[in-house]
Amino acid sequence: MNALTEYWCETEPCLLHVLESDDHYLGGDENAVWFMGVKYLYQHWADFRLPAAQYYESLYRFNKEKTSFYRAHGGRRRSGKTVKADARLDLLFDRPTGGNEKAPKVEAVAVPPEKVPSCVPGRIRPGRSPWRPAGRPPEDFYRLFAAFAAVQLMGEESTPEAVFSHLHNNPSLARACGFTPGGETAPLPSHRLLQQFDQIMTENGLWTMIQLEAVKKNLREGTVKPEPNLVHDTTHHLAFSGFETVKYEDENGREKKKSQSHLTKSCRCADRDRCPHPWELSDNGAGTIVKHDNKYYWGHKASIIGLPDQGIPMVALAVADAASHDSQSLPGTLEFMKKHFPELMTEAVRLLDDSAADSADLKQQLHQDFGLEVNGSVNPKRRQNLGPEELPAGMAKLTPAGYLYCQAGYEMDFLGTRNSAGTYLYGPPVKNGEERYCAECPLKSRCCRKNNATGRHPTIPFEALPHLSPANPPMAKRFKERMKKRPAIERIIFQLKCRLGDRYLHKRGNHNYQATLDKSMLAFHLLIRL
Ligand SMILES: [Zn+2]
Repeated sequence: MNALTEYWCETEPCLLHVLESDDHYLGGDENAVWFMGVKYLYQHWADFRLPAAQYYESLYRFNKEKTSFYRAHGGRRRSGKTVKADARLDLLFDRPTGGNEKAPKVEAVAVPPEKVPSCVPGRIRPGRSPWRPAGRPPEDFYRLFAAFAAVQLMGEESTPEAVFSHLHNNPSLARACGFTPGGETAPLPSHRLLQQFDQIMTENGLWTMIQLEAVKKNLREGTVKPEPNLVHDTTHHLAFSGFETVKYEDENGREKKKSQSHLTKSCRCADRDRCPHPWELSDNGAGTIVKHDNKYYWGHKASIIGLPDQGIPMVALAVADAASHDSQSLPGTLEFMKKHFPELMTEAVRLLDDSAADSADLKQQLHQDFGLEVNGSVNPKRRQNLGPEELPAGMAKLTPAGYLYCQAGYEMDFLGTRNSAGTYLYGPPVKNGEERYCAECPLKSRCCRKNNATGRHPTIPFEALPHLSPANPPMAKRFKERMKKRPAIERIIFQLKCRLGDRYLHKRGNHNYQATLDKSMLAFHLLIRL
């Protein structure tokens, strides 16, 4: 039975249903995830009544006033200058990485207020849109929403183009979503209608709203459980835009260069160089991202927090300026998480991150604001190994991460800290878990005392490694054990970016990027419920 007919059978008396053999087949196939998803959406249609009402309300406003939540709150980043060269610099200095320290580090996500719009959601249900005094009734929200969700569940980014193509090429999908291909009652939507639906959902923060509600529901019903550890990382998507290199002088008069998205205007004036409308960035939020291997990408950046034991992403936020350092987005992302999922923050004890979070100030700030202990790998940049002249006899090298090597080239075994003496204690190198190298070492006379039978036990004062926390040093076994959970974020990001989305973007602007992230998050949180 078709997912929609099933809904109608349960809620409305009806006389006739079309039964197709492939609907039967799809219903019994566990691999047809999109079909299960559409069925789920129709069975739980009441969960989506508020966003549906918000959608109809936003559509009404859009048709009447040509405005949206996003536009009403400033829209694209604009410059007050009308001369292009001035506007270019103006917009550059307004960026978080262009010197504007007050700019938010993560994109301020537009979540519409959860108040009930005037078209009472109680009256809204699949197949019934709100009554309007004039004009044609709007296309049904549930049908369009189901089509977008189904395409995302197939592992493709649900752009209007992809949804259009799937609806036309896959009649089973169209029928399951509630359309009647070739029929007159619910014909397949036009390309333009799908574009308008996506735009209204995006510009009014409705993808975010639905996604957040899906995560909250999973937490409420215990499908996802809070964990003591959180994992964080950033990822990037390749931008759907080009860039120009802007030259400017910094405050000391030195010439500098920075990549920035091209400028555009939203008007259609013939002489754009002289018309009074403001210049704006054509792809707000895009920037140059430098990866570890010194490769450069022009893209958008997202800050993602997940739960490592269950392997589930909880927050995915667009970073305000992709060129900013990975650590900058962390406080904003945690703030967002605390606001929307307080139960996760209550349970969380520590955050596992990479070397980007290796800053004493950041660690202190996160401890103060969120009560989180940050465990991250030590950033070796700008820190040198200590050599033999600064170390106890027989020792050759101490790395910034606290790994100590003896002159025979073996790694010393970290034993713990001696708080009374203010030192880290190391033991002899361990072979196969038990045996020690010291007894048979040819360099023994230069390292150990003559009567030493237990092997070398050097100590390193805390001051030699000022950037490490003696309470939680990264060379401790406990720390290493915890950090084994950290790669979970790589798998989470892979799922979001490659299995339930696309690494290439199809639209410009950070609000569209946020919608891309929201759709992947929604698909993930629907999928674990099916
Ligand atoms: Zn103009």
